[in-house]
Amino acid sequence: MSKTALITGSARGIGAAIALRLAKDGFNIALNDISEKSFEDNDIIEKITAPGVRCEKYIADVSSHDECAELAKKVKADFGTIDVLVNNAGITRDGLLLRMSEENYDDVIRINQKSVFNMTKHVGAVMLRQKSGRIVNLASVAGLYGNPGQMNYSASKGAVVAMTKTAAKELGSRGITVNAVAPGFIKTPMTDKLTEEQRAAMLKQIAMGRYGEPEEVASVVAFLCSDSASYVTGQTIEISGGLMM
Ligand code: NAP
Repeated sequence: MSKTALITGSARGIGAAIALRLAKDGFNIALNDISEKSFEDNDIIEKITAPGVRCEKYIADVSSHDECAELAKKVKADFGTIDVLVNNAGITRDGLLLRMSEENYDDVIRINQKSVFNMTKHVGAVMLRQKSGRIVNLASVAGLYGNPGQMNYSASKGAVVAMTKTAAKELGSRGITVNAVAPGFIKTPMTDKLTEEQRAAMLKQIAMGRYGEPEEVASVVAFLCSDSASYVTGQTIEISGGLMM
């Protein structure tokens, strides 16, 4: 296969698991993260060793409209096509509403939400010319149901769900599908930051009685990028072990 997948925020966590899975499925991989440092303590590039799979890394801040334009241009020039875009990069800056700073609100909206606009616009232009493409956005159960302490995060992820539907409606007739996944509690550096008390409270609500693994998100993303999902668009699939039903 000579198809290319671009995954944002893929130096570690869920993004790295998605990159690894798509490489196993035969995609060439364009990794992205915000700095060289993000890749330093991670071995994702070494792990992507599937025969015939090409892997390059690109440093860009996906909250910057200009950097995303440059990123899309470079990946297209290097690989010839961009067949899959996974908008994965995201941050948390949790805090109860009355204590949340304006900066923490704005940062989360910029990085989690505006990045999806930036990347979908610039990579979407490439896919429109190709008349094909798959876009998968990382939403969250917090964006569907809300979560105390995450006014900023739940707002950003709720917007991602709405943006997924809008992009699906705009791009569908040109052979481009746009879907989202909404993970619950997945074991990554992002959730490592939670306190024992927060983890225990979360665990009690999960029907399957355990946290999720990044690979369990990656396999659903891989399905949405595969031929098996050719008639699925505008959908948000929860991956939460039954956290909310
Ligand atoms: P993570 O371990 O914190 O990884 C996120 C990656 O994104 C990091 O490598 C980070 O780089 C990068 N990043 C942050 N800001 C960026 C920017 N402006 N430009 C480019 N890259 C940037 O998080 P994760 O748990 O894997 O989460 C991945 C996605 O899944 C996120 O969108 C998250 O909201 C969503 N999600 C996660 C969970 C969960 O339970 N883990 C649940 C629901 C949804 P640096 O760290 O080097 O800055």
